[in-house]
Amino acid sequence: MIRRSWLSAMTAATCLTGWTFTANAAPLPASNPFAAESTLPYHAPPFNLIKDSDYQPAFEQGMVEQAEEISRIANNPEAASFENTIAAMERSGRLLDRVNEAFSGVYSANTNPTLDKVQEIIGPKLSAHEDSIYLNPKLFARVQYLHARQDALGLNAEQKQVLDVYYQAFIHAGAQLSDADKAKLRDLNTRLSKLETLFQQKLLAATKAAALVVSDKAKLAGLDDAALTNALNAAKDRKLTDKWLLPLQNTTQQPQLAALTDRETRQALFEQSWNRAEKGGENDTRETIATLAQLRAQKAALFGYPNYASYVLFDQMAKTPEAVHSFISQIVPALATEQKREVRDLQSLIERSTPKGSTSFQLKPWDWSYYADQLRKEKFNFDENQVKPYFELNTVLQDGVFFAANRLYGITFKRRTDIPVYNPDVTVFEVFDKDGSALGLIYFDYFQRDNKNGGAWMSNFVGQSTLLGTKPVVYNVANFAKPAAGQPALISFDDVTTMFHEFGHALHGLFASQTYPIVSGTSVARDFVEFPSQFNEHWALDATVLNHYARHYKTGAAMPAILVTQLKKAAKFNQGYKFGEVVSAAELDMDWHSLSASAPKQDVDTFEKTALSKMGLDTENVPPRYRSSYFLHIWANGYSAGYYAYLWTEMLDDDTFAWFEKHGGLTRQNGQRFRDMILSRGHTQDYGPMFRAFYGKDPDIGPMLASRGLADDTQK
Ligand SMILES: [Zn+2]
Repeated sequence: MIRRSWLSAMTAATCLTGWTFTANAAPLPASNPFAAESTLPYHAPPFNLIKDSDYQPAFEQGMVEQAEEISRIANNPEAASFENTIAAMERSGRLLDRVNEAFSGVYSANTNPTLDKVQEIIGPKLSAHEDSIYLNPKLFARVQYLHARQDALGLNAEQKQVLDVYYQAFIHAGAQLSDADKAKLRDLNTRLSKLETLFQQKLLAATKAAALVVSDKAKLAGLDDAALTNALNAAKDRKLTDKWLLPLQNTTQQPQLAALTDRETRQALFEQSWNRAEKGGENDTRETIATLAQLRAQKAALFGYPNYASYVLFDQMAKTPEAVHSFISQIVPALATEQKREVRDLQSLIERSTPKGSTSFQLKPWDWSYYADQLRKEKFNFDENQVKPYFELNTVLQDGVFFAANRLYGITFKRRTDIPVYNPDVTVFEVFDKDGSALGLIYFDYFQRDNKNGGAWMSNFVGQSTLLGTKPVVYNVANFAKPAAGQPALISFDDVTTMFHEFGHALHGLFASQTYPIVSGTSVARDFVEFPSQFNEHWALDATVLNHYARHYKTGAAMPAILVTQLKKAAKFNQGYKFGEVVSAAELDMDWHSLSASAPKQDVDTFEKTALSKMGLDTENVPPRYRSSYFLHIWANGYSAGYYAYLWTEMLDDDTFAWFEKHGGLTRQNGQRFRDMILSRGHTQDYGPMFRAFYGKDPDIGPMLASRGLADDTQK
């Protein structure tokens, strides 16, 4: 198949200039595991056989094979038909798909210098390969011919949609541009692809280098024994003796900031995080992103769009930047009020807890988590460490995540230890449908590693398609702290939520029931793709589900009712911060991608300051969840002008959960309706109509504000 998402999954390099197909690329030797379709169950990647050196030749040959297939389609003397053009494109590129899907998964979660090198070399080639397909005039002529006659072709609804998706993709990729503009576009795409990879690699190195090293244990007061042991081991892993090392997570706030009592250490850790990619030298990302923003604006201008955001949003549910701005501005008043209240509460706690004789200080972002945590304890008598013993990772997975999915959709799970994995931490389960038939495979790779991108994500090793005869093979990746050998993995409620979230994506992939890969499963707009995942988060706090999985890891006792109540209340606590950091990151993203092609290259820090200060939110105390210089989502992970999607889909998921609550909550009937109308639909329909069909109305922000505890804030 042919998909534009290559550009986001596979980004590119520093050293290549231009590329053309090499006619003499050697056929792949049979010893290369990608040469033939995997014979493992579900065609799972044979990680036991794949060597790092197998990827690049498979990519090269995969591109050659697909180029030949595309050439045969484009030059077919027969008149274009859906079958000989669209379906033929969907069938093409099987070798390339195999290697790309395996490589993308491993490169993101378990990279090494060899794989980095493959990415550097292959990224720009893939980008050029994709251009050679979408900018092929003969091929586009066939697609255009079919699109103009779509009603006379006798297509079913899915085929009509597939034809339209292809037609729009061709236009959007530049098929209608003049030859001179096509050349400019190819050049821009290659440069963008290289810069995106450069950004990603700089950021990974910068994040690793900016870990906080502490020589005096007293400076880490407040961390529990497990966290101290982790810090000591993390230092040992880097050959540092008698030191403690706090590795950075991808977000601005770091989890340890809630516990560290020493204000200087907090400030040091926060500043390491905030400045991680702005330290000058080779890992500084500012020059790269300023150029990226400029080149993206130039690309949009080639298509006649005023900015990159307009270019990107055309096939999203929101459709225009204006719709996004209006959506964000609806949120701001209630959020600003809540932030003011939270700042007052925290400042007052600081005053109250300053010992007599000492001078108090003004709240700073590195104090926020610490005092918010104190306040949470004061208000709800609630401490994250009290709940952790009830959240043992495997129990959460099997008795929580799997249990909820079983209750809603009837599906069941069986551990498979015979499926090869790319790292010993990875576990695999087979998934069975309600009637016992095989549905697919799911891999879990939960623990943090230095060679893994930050955050959590889901994707496919094999996509579902009845045309290709493939069932879904999906994976969930996260960055939870790994327990010491022999210790249980006790995780935070945030981590629990992440597990439910990523599994929601997995369900969207597993329930896919499309013929054509291009509209299958999670191949949907970004401002729709987080809908199933965020919706699934709600079940983490459902009374029946919580009671089933939140069991003490030693005694098996259920979580005491009082803790449950407090956990639920606490979920609405501190939302001025939690919501605010996402809203300001979304605004920052929209602003970077609202630049016009004629705008000069921006000074990153000045631009960021201006963007944040005009929002009407307290962005001093509540900095964006990701700063421009480490905003991986928007610079290299396909979320450019798309970070708002997390908020947009929250509106969808909270509204949908309100529908579930009105209709009896956790029932098979409700689950089936959601599966039938949303989870199994892929992109076979437009998103607005899909949502309306499920709910009977358009989404609104009421349930989202209520679920954040902000519903009444405009009056406070
Ligand atoms: Zn997600």
